[in-house]
This record gives sequence, C-alpha cells and structure tokens, in this order.
Amino acid sequence: MAHRNVPYFDHNATTPLLPAAREVLLQMLDEAWHNPSSPYRDAARVHRKLQDARARIAEVVRRAAEEVVFTSGATEANNAVINWARQRLGVSALFLVSPTEHPSVIESLDQVSVDYLRHLRMDAAGSPDVGHAEQLLAESETALVACMAANNETGVLGPVGEIAECCDRHDVPYLCDASQWIGRLPARDLPPSAFVVGCAHKFGGPKGVGFLCVPAAGRDFHGSRGGDQEHGLRAGTENLPAIAAMAAALEFAEGHSAEDCRQRTDWRDALINTITTAIPGSQVNGRDRDRLWNTVSLTLPRHENTRWVTRLDKLDFQVSTGSACATGSNAPSHVLAALKLSAEETRRTIRVSAGWETREEDWTALKGAILQVWRELESDSSSGTGEVISV
Ligand code: PLP
Repeated sequence: MAHRNVPYFDHNATTPLLPAAREVLLQMLDEAWHNPSSPYRDAARVHRKLQDARARIAEVVRRAAEEVVFTSGATEANNAVINWARQRLGVSALFLVSPTEHPSVIESLDQVSVDYLRHLRMDAAGSPDVGHAEQLLAESETALVACMAANNETGVLGPVGEIAECCDRHDVPYLCDASQWIGRLPARDLPPSAFVVGCAHKFGGPKGVGFLCVPAAGRDFHGSRGGDQEHGLRAGTENLPAIAAMAAALEFAEGHSAEDCRQRTDWRDALINTITTAIPGSQVNGRDRDRLWNTVSLTLPRHENTRWVTRLDKLDFQVSTGSACATGSNAPSHVLAALKLSAEETRRTIRVSAGWETREEDWTALKGAILQVWRELESDSSSGTGEVISV
C-alpha cells in the first residue's frame, strides 16, 4: 500500500526516517555488512565506519568517543544502567527516581525493594523537587538517581543540570534519559557526568538502535556479557547500518538553530492559545514550565480521548492519547497522575507532538481539525448520539 502523506503529530512515539539517514542505511546494508570484529580487511573497514559513527555522535554530545556505547535503544540502556547500579552497591542503597520516568525506568525498579525506592517530590507542573533529592542524597547511601531530560507525555524539561550537581557532590551515578531531548534541543547542554540515554527513532534515525554515554566514573558499567564489543561494556554484534544512519540523523537534527526552536515554539503556542480560548475548560499540562517546542499535552472537556484520536484520524491528523507504550492499556497515565490530574482527566487528555518537518500550516490545519472535532462531539452529545464523560 502506498504511504499516505498525512500531517503526523505523534513524533514522541516515533519519527519518520530522515532521507539522509535512509540513504546511509541502504548503502551500508549493501556495502558494510561484515562483522566489525572479524579479522580481515573488509571487517576492518566496517570497524572504521563504526568508530567514525561513534566519533561523530561523541562530538555532538560533547563526550569522549570511549564514553559512547551503542545499544538497541533507550529501553535497553535504561534497564542496563539500573541493573548495573543494583549489582554494584548491593540491596541496601537507595534509588531516587522521578515519578514521571518512562516505564523502561519505572518497571526496571520493580526489582528494588520498596524500602529502598524513593520517589522525588513533584510540584504541580510536573518538575521534581531538587531540594528533596539533595536531602535524600545527604541522608542515605544512594545507588542511583533517575531523572529524565524531557518528559515524553508533557514535554516538560527536567532540572537536569541541578540534579547532576547534587549527584556530583555526593558522588552518586545519575541516569538521565534524554530520549525525547536529543535531536530536539542541543545535546551539548546535557550533564557531562551523567549516564545519558539517546534513542535514534525519536530523531529521524532507524528503530532498534540508540546510544548510552557512560561517564568516566562508570567504567565498571556492564550492559551485557558475552563479547568484547563496545570497549567491553556491551556485548553483541553492532548493527553498523543502523548506527551510521543514527549518526547522520543526529547531525541533521542538531543542525537546527535556536531561532528554529523559537519559531516552532511560536507555532505550538498559537495552537495552545486558540484551543484554550475556543474550548472552555481545556488546559495544557505543564503549561507554565520549560517544555519541548514540539509537545502539547492537552486535557479537553467532556469527551474521552480515544474519541478525539479516532475523529482526528478520520480527518487525517495523527495524534495520540499519551505514550505509545501505554496504548491499549486502560490504566491512567502515571505521568499525568503525578501532575495531580484525576484518572478521569487523564482519559480526556491527548498528546500532540510535532517534528522538524512539521510546518506552520500543519499546526494551523490541526487547530482547525481540533475545533471541528469539538463541534462534532458536542453536537453528537446534545443529540444524544455521543457519550459524555461527566465532569
Ligand atoms: N524513554 C523515553 C523517555 C521514551 O519516550 C521512550 C520511547 O517512547 C523510551 C525511553 C523507550 O524507547 P525504545 O522503546 O525505543 O527503547
């Protein structure tokens, strides 16, 4: 079936492959398929390409090349850092975690006894309280602090610089899941002493590939065992075509300027202003916080989010009800619950997330589509043909 070119507003779930990344991917699939660890010249050539991709990614994130470890994506990296921290300090050290982390962090921590797990206090806009982190770090031996760079549901930015300073002062490893930040905001602004997680398919690279920056203080880190690949930190044959395509995508995404971000923030805010004025009772979650320029978490009155998503899809606009990993689950979003939304409010929330290729006219068209769906849903409910959530 031919690909339909419809306005896509679900970039936090995944992004389309960038042409520059596609070109590299296809070329390498044909030309660079040898195992980079094999002992002949073609393999050495592949190994050099691997090191070239590592050096280019290291340059973008301002880390030493030896600190960059390729992974299968953010889930693997988050799981691996948590497992390493668990094994390192035994069972009696604390894990401090922001309650709005991605499930690949939250669910990995299921293995930690509740006695040693502490959720950082959050304010009403969804930012973790750095003072609370500082207090807990001063009181108890801590195995790891996990606080993401940008939230996948709301786009709210974490206080990563301040958390990194606290962790550095107490010599505690910091896991900074930057899956939604990298490729949208400058990677050089992420803390140099943290374990930083990047995920290619969030910035126009292929799926199933990512990277983890392992700081010098984490040199005993082990992701997986069974081979000496990735400086002995993560065993398994590297997927060079995907890795090289990720490097190309990252360079493209990072090439955008502060002015590009400002312009896109204006387009996002134009949608927010129109919708919150035209639809009484609608609200943007985390509105007064620093957020990604691409994300809007919008709680709308009266109608269930699945109805919004289906109606918008019929008009050819693709948005989501929340994070892609929770699609199909009836459980209310833990992120919105941490922002003190009720379960019922979370079921009236949609997530809109744009990409670099989203144009001003796409945002304008989405605005029109949301208003049209609102009128349709209201008219269905007044004629008795549509369900309304009582508020
Ligand atoms: N962390 C965050 C913040 C994410 O948004 C995602 C994907 O949605 C992940 C981790 C997991 O990424 P992947 O499923 O590609 O491993």
